Amino acid sequence: MTASNVKVMIPTPLRQYVGNRDTVELRGETVEEVLNSLAESSIQLKKHLYDDGGKIRNFVNVYLNEDDIRYLERGRTPVREGDVIAIIPSIAGGAAGLEEAFSYEDIQRYSRHLLLPEVGLEGQLKLRNSRVLVIGAGGLGSPLLLYLAAAGVGTIGIVDFDTVDFSNLQRQIIHTQKDVGRKKIDSAEEKIKGINPHINVVKHEAQITSENALDIIRNYDVVIDGTDNFPTRYLVNDACVILGKPNVYGSIYRFEGQVSVFDAGKGPCYRCLYENPPPPGLVPSCAEGGVVGVLPGTVGTLQAMETIKLILGQGEPLIGRLLLFDAMRMRFKELKLRKNPECPVCGTNPTVKELIDYEQFCGITHNAEAEGDVITVEELNRKFDAGESLVLVDVREPQEWEICRIKGAKLIPMNDVPARVSELNTADDIILYCKSGQRSAYVMNFLKDIGFRKVRNLKGGINAWAEKVDSSMPRY
Ligand SMILES: [Zn+2]
Repeated sequence: MTASNVKVMIPTPLRQYVGNRDTVELRGETVEEVLNSLAESSIQLKKHLYDDGGKIRNFVNVYLNEDDIRYLERGRTPVREGDVIAIIPSIAGGAAGLEEAFSYEDIQRYSRHLLLPEVGLEGQLKLRNSRVLVIGAGGLGSPLLLYLAAAGVGTIGIVDFDTVDFSNLQRQIIHTQKDVGRKKIDSAEEKIKGINPHINVVKHEAQITSENALDIIRNYDVVIDGTDNFPTRYLVNDACVILGKPNVYGSIYRFEGQVSVFDAGKGPCYRCLYENPPPPGLVPSCAEGGVVGVLPGTVGTLQAMETIKLILGQGEPLIGRLLLFDAMRMRFKELKLRKNPECPVCGTNPTVKELIDYEQFCGITHNAEAEGDVITVEELNRKFDAGESLVLVDVREPQEWEICRIKGAKLIPMNDVPARVSELNTADDIILYCKSGQRSAYVMNFLKDIGFRKVRNLKGGINAWAEKVDSSMPRY
């Protein structure tokens, strides 16, 4: 046998004897030799580790990598280059008694964390005592929840009111085919418990609103925004600013993602970046525009990493920085974000001091029906049966047209409408449709602005047609 270099992890209470270092590099052939050379460096340390007979005290546990040496060859266990020895003394009571908080199973479960000086027992305890709220158990929430559970975040709150749909399985990896039709929070809780049964899962089965947001968020240390719509983004931002909570932001669209940490006490908030939302319909959601399934995996995992760093108080958080990820070019880019002194929520003279109506703020109105510019799928079907003359325009993208289309429709994708408007006649009865009715509403308003009068929007889009009129048509 030859002597090897090994790392010895020193627990917090014993660090005072080794110049406040958390690890010490030593050489030896066996665990005993290494510990002997450690003990030689300090008489007090020697007293802590050995009894008068020169044996390792029975309240001191020694681990070689992840194994208790009592289950190996005790002090005679040979060490190899690069091994890690951890000393885990049980010290009764007091703040130093970290070790007591962890069972034998915990030590094994978190061994790869415990070996990191940036985590250790102290950091692992911080994770266990932390309370993290994940808003949305969808694409971003899936990897987030799985990694937070595996990492040992003690309390995980989930806000979601949705059920699992077949179209979720392509990216929402916390849910499986057998969960289709189940509530997402129930499905997510089962997977979290499957990884780590010690996690306290708090289920908030609700849509987050101006009425309940402060009461829900108040109980957590870190909030993670895994939502997919503008009203909720602004709501979560404002609630976090008001309560002084860090907001770990992630967003995804097609092949691109964004990640940042908004913490108004230390840097900018979401409103410093985007003071006002885009007009409704201009920026399509993932449900309208699509998203590659791995993208939320990447972005959600980055959010989980930032969350764990915030809890540990380690590293450089993404505060004041916006990380842009382009999956197609496989490039990350970073932009500096500045706090806007004029920001209506976190600026020097804030005008938003309580939560507002975010649907209204984002320009989403629910009075389209009252204006008489909506037609239901049943009405459209009756018009077909009656042989009425009408012009049906599909404003979706060609790849959606390939999936399904309503017979007799003409395809003019939303962005082509301005250039192809001459193909439409103001004298005709025009009915517009898209997947769900959002994009077509946008096109309808555009056509009305330029003088079309007889134009209507198909309520619920082609998905409503598939659901209520033509059951042979797939919904997507
Ligand atoms: Zn701000």
